[in-house]
Amino acid sequence: MAASERDYYELLGVSRNASEVEIKKAFRALARELHPDVSEHPEAEERFKQVVEAYEVLSKTETRELYDRFGHAGLRSGGYQPTGVEYGNLSDLFSAFFGDDLFGTARPQGRQRGADAAAEVEIDLAEAAKGVKREVTLEVEIACRACDGSGMEPGTGRTTCSNCNGQGMFQQVSQSFFGQMVRTQACPVCGGQGKMIEQPCGTCGGAGREIDARKLDVEIPAGIHDRQPIRISGKGHAGSNGGRSGDAYVLVHVRPDERFVREGDDLVSELELTMTQAALGGKVAVATLDGSTEIEIEAGTQPGKVVSLRGKGMPRLNGFGHGDLRLLVTVLIPRRLGEAERNLLEQFDASATAATYERDESLFDRLKARFR
Ligand SMILES: [Zn+2]
Ligand SMILES: [Zn+2]
Repeated sequence: MAASERDYYELLGVSRNASEVEIKKAFRALARELHPDVSEHPEAEERFKQVVEAYEVLSKTETRELYDRFGHAGLRSGGYQPTGVEYGNLSDLFSAFFGDDLFGTARPQGRQRGADAAAEVEIDLAEAAKGVKREVTLEVEIACRACDGSGMEPGTGRTTCSNCNGQGMFQQVSQSFFGQMVRTQACPVCGGQGKMIEQPCGTCGGAGREIDARKLDVEIPAGIHDRQPIRISGKGHAGSNGGRSGDAYVLVHVRPDERFVREGDDLVSELELTMTQAALGGKVAVATLDGSTEIEIEAGTQPGKVVSLRGKGMPRLNGFGHGDLRLLVTVLIPRRLGEAERNLLEQFDASATAATYERDESLFDRLKARFR
């Protein structure tokens, strides 16, 4: 289907006896104006299609003659089908038509953002709890300081590329549906720039970049978890041609602590009581991340009981407060008894009754506690 039945000469804004050159010129001007990537106009895309179609027909003698004599009906009976254009390929199409580049996409590489860089740092659990500042060394690519990123030995200039004689682009001509197609390719020697470096920079060998070991002061926030990365924006590899730098990522490893197991923001630890401490109760010292603290143990504390110290866990990252420190009670049973201890225990056993060991809770309470 033709995109329109409008007069092709009218669409291109040329007279019926316009020359090939005039038609080409008119199309080129309209295409630049109407290209959907460029134009803000809501009908630009539709008009663009029409203009391409008009050009397709009028740029070839055979279809132009058919159209001049019989109009749109003549084209239809002549089996003419407009090719239709995919906009993604439009720049290609343009260089095909005109041997140049409409939208600047084939120019030598423009501004590019630098890549991200990464480093790792190891801290211990107590540091993760408090937050810590660390100096981290990061190897990043920066613009060579000797040549300011140009790749040229200071004081030297550029010469014309001998491969393309300074043209930068090569053109290849082939026959196609559109008539002669001219395809443009960047010169592989100079990368399309037409110029070559006279003498490469001695420091970077012409690359224009060098590696810099950059020291970063990294603020590690309290409550950070193992293998959590910190992003420091703009501290990665330098961009090229004025593009901005990438980001730096510092991956934090939190060394395991022998005394505590971390469960989210809670810490879990073991509380070892001697048989008599568990039976008699009293004050015992327990280790927390802040150092040792004393807690009161109830008489008759059973193994497997969990004692929670509220707020003695890890600080919550990006939040308020702390998790808990949960102490799992284990009871040490004597392994080696001397004569005296054996006698005392035997005496104790002789006076103990079933009530000595009786639980406070009912069976129901105990089962409930077990499934909690
Ligand atoms: Zn250099
Ligand atoms: Zn070249």
